[in-house]
Amino acid sequence: HDPEEFRKRGYEMVDWIADYFKDLESLPVKPDITPGLIKDKIPSDYPEEPESFDQIFNDFKENILPGMTHWQHPGFMAYFPANNSFPSILAEMVTAGMGAQCMIWLTSPAAEELEDRMMEWLRKAIGLPDSFTGVIQDTASTATLVAILTAREKFSHFGVSKSGFTGREKFRVYSSDQVHSSIDKAVRIAGLGEDNLVRVPVNDDFSMDPEALRQAIEEDLRSGYKPLCIVSALGTTSSTACDPIDAIGKLAKDYDIWHHVDAAYLGTALILEEYRYLIDGIENADSFVFNPHKWMMVNFDCSAYFVKDTELLQKTFSVMPEYLKTDIDKQVKNYRDWGIQLGRRFRALKLWFVLRSFGLAGIKKMISGHIKMADKFKNYIARVGHYEILAPVVANLICFRVIKLGWSDEQADNASRLLMQKINNSGQFFLTHTRLKNKFAIRVVIGQTNVNEKHVEKLISLMEEFVPEVLSEMD
Ligand code: PLP
Repeated sequence: HDPEEFRKRGYEMVDWIADYFKDLESLPVKPDITPGLIKDKIPSDYPEEPESFDQIFNDFKENILPGMTHWQHPGFMAYFPANNSFPSILAEMVTAGMGAQCMIWLTSPAAEELEDRMMEWLRKAIGLPDSFTGVIQDTASTATLVAILTAREKFSHFGVSKSGFTGREKFRVYSSDQVHSSIDKAVRIAGLGEDNLVRVPVNDDFSMDPEALRQAIEEDLRSGYKPLCIVSALGTTSSTACDPIDAIGKLAKDYDIWHHVDAAYLGTALILEEYRYLIDGIENADSFVFNPHKWMMVNFDCSAYFVKDTELLQKTFSVMPEYLKTDIDKQVKNYRDWGIQLGRRFRALKLWFVLRSFGLAGIKKMISGHIKMADKFKNYIARVGHYEILAPVVANLICFRVIKLGWSDEQADNASRLLMQKINNSGQFFLTHTRLKNKFAIRVVIGQTNVNEKHVEKLISLMEEFVPEVLSEMD
């Protein structure tokens, strides 16, 4: 507890982080280890006596670091990024230093008011109308659960939260078959029953077919179900496909159904004017989520949830024990009533540091740079004969496979898997895959904070090295 000791260690840690970023490219993006290896290196019993920080940190470098996947490595092109930045890291340090728990206004007035302002900044930055009010949730999964629970309470007139599901109509939730697994989870947790998540077929570009949605709703109404919520994806996890928000929003309005838009990853692209067409008609949606912790240089976790009916939201989540009552409850936003958890981290600070350090111009520059690099990569894939692009490229995710004339899908799957393995085994890149129309697709996401043209060229040259090997191994 000695501040001078902390100062010394703090400087050492900052030095270590700075060196980490300098040396990052010399590390393999992903460790080549087998399960259990790291755990075996950690004693099975806790220390009874204090240990020196030097010893602890040496053990970290020796035993933990080699088992880490380096998400900030420019060769990290897997899943979606969780990119960070120095201002964000510094904000996290300050946040951890203060160790504040920001459940209500009184427990940290500045945290609440900064969050309120940051959500206004973000709302304007992505072009949402001012009928939406924002609140930070930990993840998009939580935000989607919050949306579905709010819809459930709206349409059951708070009956489910009061007396449970018994004797109640069966609710239905609609989404395309491409949405993220967090929707399945939310439906399950909300007690609606997995069977009541209706998978609406998609068009050729993997976007939800609104006519099929209308038919599914009509059919459910005829069968006595109560349509509750439609979850649209603005940027599916597999291929960044975008559901037609306007058409779906109109349907939701006509049938009085909650419309939640999951823009977890691609929402950041809305900062660029040229992507705003994707949210035409957003004024008809009820809620919207995107993750600054994915593609906006804000450390995980930070998910921006926007909702129109904030009273309904609070009514869904508010429980008022005596020990949390304050005299100013009516004048302030007590965010513990805006979601599931009571205790909350001070997440707005990192948003404030990031938005001010880079300005919106800096963020625009980064994401448009990524989109340009992705376009170049896509052009390369399209130009070379033995690849096939498997989904439209909306922004900076390219889904493709290796193909040769006369191959079956199974052969193409095997070749694509082999190429991905070879690239990943090089340690220089980390790619993951998905399935599109039942075809194995390699996903390349160019969205890491520090990725540049040199890395994309390196990936291409690795592919040029490995593809002939793959083709000959397939023969
Ligand atoms: N929705 C979509 C479209 C996603 O791509 C993801 C994650 O990649 C999520 C939701 C889940 O995000 P989170 O980890 O914030 O819950």
